[in-house]
Amino acid sequence: MFDLWRRFAAIILLIVVTVIIWGVVDAVTALALFSLVLLGLTIYHTYYLALLDLWFQRFNHSAFDPFTIPNVPKSFGVWGDVFIRLARFIRRYYRSRQSLSKALERLQRATSAMPEGIVILDEADRIEWCNPSAEQHLGLDLRLDIGQHVTHLVRQVQFVAYLTSGDYSKPLIIKQSRYEELVLLLQLVPYGDREKLLISRDITRFEKMEIMRRDFIANVSHELRTPLTVIGGFLETLLYEDIKDSEMEKRALILMNDQAKRMQHLVEDLLTLSKLENAQNILHEEEINIAELLQSLYQEAQSLSAGRHHIHLKLVSDAHLLGSVDELRSAFSNLISNAVRYTPDGGNISLSWTEEQGQGLFYVQDSGIGIGPEHIPRLAERFYRVDRSRSRETGGTGLGLAIVKHVLNRHQAHMEIISEIEKGSIFKVWFPAKRLIKNKGSHLTIHDTHAMPSNKTIPPLI
Ligand code: ADP
Repeated sequence: MFDLWRRFAAIILLIVVTVIIWGVVDAVTALALFSLVLLGLTIYHTYYLALLDLWFQRFNHSAFDPFTIPNVPKSFGVWGDVFIRLARFIRRYYRSRQSLSKALERLQRATSAMPEGIVILDEADRIEWCNPSAEQHLGLDLRLDIGQHVTHLVRQVQFVAYLTSGDYSKPLIIKQSRYEELVLLLQLVPYGDREKLLISRDITRFEKMEIMRRDFIANVSHELRTPLTVIGGFLETLLYEDIKDSEMEKRALILMNDQAKRMQHLVEDLLTLSKLENAQNILHEEEINIAELLQSLYQEAQSLSAGRHHIHLKLVSDAHLLGSVDELRSAFSNLISNAVRYTPDGGNISLSWTEEQGQGLFYVQDSGIGIGPEHIPRLAERFYRVDRSRSRETGGTGLGLAIVKHVLNRHQAHMEIISEIEKGSIFKVWFPAKRLIKNKGSHLTIHDTHAMPSNKTIPPLI
């Protein structure tokens, strides 16, 4: 209100002065002075109005870039106030614009970092915006695809049906054909005025795990069904048929016993695997005397082989190892029993403990049947066997190398398999240097043990 009076003060003053001059001098002088001052005021206002108009025109052309905004004209009097306020308003306007664009940038950065794909669809299901994950999942290109109808780019029949159904309570799983093996979980979320968010999640890994789980259950059921069928068949014969032949009866009991043992091995291996896979099961580490452990495994190998092979133990290192003795015994024993089971009678097997490039190295070498290169990458998969019947005949469960792989993972160790068909195999296990405990002051003496006196040497492998 005060400001409004201030604006009229000059006019009121002019009228008062004009009236006084009129009274004191004469009307002509008073009106001439009045007109002159009015003319001055009109020129002043018209000039600054024109400047303001010009400034607005330049401001409009500046594309709202703070660096190209024209300066607010300088003035005095009423226009001075107007321009100061305008300058203040523009500063405030840019500050809020800047903080808004920073917030928007942060939001875009956050959504860009999200592993989930996000596509914003308008009320006609045209693409308004999407983040880089959505570009990857759905094969979109934000620069080219803005304004395109989403079904022109995501063409799967199931997706089109899902979009048009209007029922988005459940997500949709689709396989992306343009990227091999990419499985996506898509969910449409309506919001605002018939707009939608399309969220995509890469579930390829979960899908693979689900397939593995299904395969695993099918394999376990199959492995258990076979011995159960044998036992069931014999039991039926013994129960309902009048068997006079005690020899036959004994044979049936022996076979049933074999099958029961097979099931027992399978269940034991399954329990071992499940214990190893349990993330809660922490590794109980202790200092293991590998030489002692291998001596005892060597004795076991001899009794398993029952004199059919030339077995040979070579202890080149006396380093101890930090790890779980039970787990490593089970892993080494699996590798050794495989060497015995897959090496024909008269073959050679050697067990060695040494150090190479600062790492601990345990290896089992055999002159057995060998493995084709196409099988090697898959050997540690559960129930993967090169020769199913040979594995079963020799009491294999198909889980041995899967157990070895888990134990080694838990010890940050890795396995290397070198093999050639009909020549033999070497299974090398490398332990990281940090797990080795060197025996201070002790001398390295090569300890070499042969199970059978033999002048044969192990044929060189690949
Ligand atoms: P299995 O109980 O069948 O032996 P494993 O997981 O221990 O199961 O081994 C998987 C497969 O790898 C075996 O079925 C066999 O075909 C092959 N294999 C493992 N060790 C050897 C070896 N020393 N020589 C030849 N083949 C082997």
